[in-house]
Amino acid sequence: MTADKKRVIVIGSGLAGSRVAQFLQNDCEVTLLTKGKLLDANSALAQGGIASAIGGGDSVDLHFQDSLLAGAHHNDKHNLRLLVTEGKRAAEELIQEGMEFDRRADGALDFGLEGAHSIPRILHAGGDFTGRKVLEFVQSKFKNVKVIEDAFVTQLLVRSAANSSEIYGVRFLDAQNREMVQIADVVVLATGGLGKMYKFNTNNFTISADGLALAKRAGAQLRDMEFVQFHPTLLKNEGRTLISEALRGVGAKLVNSDDEYFMKNRGKYGDLSTRDVVSREIINQINSGKDVFLDTSNCTNFAEKFPFIAEKLREAGVNTELIPITPAAHFFMGGVYVDEFGRTSVQNLYAVGEVASTGAHGANRLASNSLLECLVFSKKVAEDVLNLQLTTQHTQIEAVQATRPEIVYVPDLKEFQERSWSSIGIMRSSAKLRDFLRWLSKFDTQKIALDKCTNEQENLVLIAREIAAASLKRTSSLGAHYIEEDT
Ligand SMILES: Cc1cc2nc3c(=O)[nH]c(=O)nc-3n(C[C@H](O)[C@H](O)[C@H](O)COP(=O)(O)OP(=O)(O)OC[C@H]3O[C@@H](n4cnc5c(N)ncnc54)[C@H](O)[C@@H]3O)c2cc1C
Repeated sequence: MTADKKRVIVIGSGLAGSRVAQFLQNDCEVTLLTKGKLLDANSALAQGGIASAIGGGDSVDLHFQDSLLAGAHHNDKHNLRLLVTEGKRAAEELIQEGMEFDRRADGALDFGLEGAHSIPRILHAGGDFTGRKVLEFVQSKFKNVKVIEDAFVTQLLVRSAANSSEIYGVRFLDAQNREMVQIADVVVLATGGLGKMYKFNTNNFTISADGLALAKRAGAQLRDMEFVQFHPTLLKNEGRTLISEALRGVGAKLVNSDDEYFMKNRGKYGDLSTRDVVSREIINQINSGKDVFLDTSNCTNFAEKFPFIAEKLREAGVNTELIPITPAAHFFMGGVYVDEFGRTSVQNLYAVGEVASTGAHGANRLASNSLLECLVFSKKVAEDVLNLQLTTQHTQIEAVQATRPEIVYVPDLKEFQERSWSSIGIMRSSAKLRDFLRWLSKFDTQKIALDKCTNEQENLVLIAREIAAASLKRTSSLGAHYIEEDT
């Protein structure tokens, strides 16, 4: 590493952050900070796979149309076009690098089918171990990345620049809970979404809206904050086991406790309708006092095709033929406003992956488009970082002390998650949103000075307020945002 290389901090070791680090490792001085261990990321939990129009009979236009329909036409069409077009190349590039996706007996790629895709186009690996396999593959390419695990980033360091503010480093707590400062020319935020906000969620335990709060406090613009995606099928127990949509792709059916196949006549796609539609139907069933199950009795070779899920069900002692499920918070379409190169409104601060909002997903993400997003936009970010002309040379700053705010009053996590679930969850109403905002206003996270660090719960409260406020403003339902008294 030479002194004239750009110093880049990547925050988050999911697919987005890991791929950026991989791309930049030879030309920049890259430090990857991650809150848990390297594989603690939603990316490692992805089961279904990566949507890409590389199969015969498929086309980027078809993929574009499916994504647009799922996104309720709220999508940024330029960035969506990029996603599906570059997405084809990104998948091919990964295969050329040596990533092995599952193939059929004749050697052809075995494409899976998921909700609202008009054709099977989901690349998968190790059955339902796709995310983990892809993430391990990318991280196995690290040769020149300084990885710091158990590093919880608590603040982005910004100062005023010519026309805006400019980032110059981060503060983080290390494994020994010591406060550390690291200076950088460029910071790439790849911290994922906000699962921990909700009582039911599918996410890794490290995913708690940190990046969104860090960016907001650094002055970066957020957008589309009302669009949270709920996955219809989380195993209903204490754990967080997602039951992949790919199961419905091979014939599993949603039934209620009266053995009614309630999605049967629900539109063209039935069980495989978009996630917002299926989640709402399930909530309607639950609200009418029924339990909901996924009936997999006609899925052949279950354990072979879905080894991860089969193992989790075995551990939980659940019958694989009738799986009790609930919808759960899964993915965030909103995020830090970025252009196609991942540039935020703060100079030299980039955002990529789920924490970023390119607008490509619109109001509702099409299944398996998010690992694709990580692949496509990490490359755009890396290219832009390489081309970036630096104007300031940041040097080490003096030791920093006492960066925690005095005492911040935050809610009990369990109560907060329950309230988020019922107020900014699948079904919203202006009364519930107002009530929630009133309750949130009791907590003083808003008052934390910008030069202080924040913790998980403060971040969650800050971002819950953004979601509730954005939801209140959008008085008509759109995509994943459903408002009961739709105007
Ligand atoms: C169970 C499950 C199944 C899914 N299945 C699919 C699928 O089949 N196909 C698909 O396309 N998408 C799927 N998704 C969505 C997809 O996995 C994610 O959207 C995508 O992986 C996000 O990648 P990312 O790199 O942006 O974030 P993540 O992979 O979530 O990584 C974020 C990283 O940031 C770190 N981090 C967070 N806060 C801090 C902090 N303050 N300091 C330091 N580090 C921090 C985290 O620890 C983590 O390492 C699934 C999601 C889940 C939860």
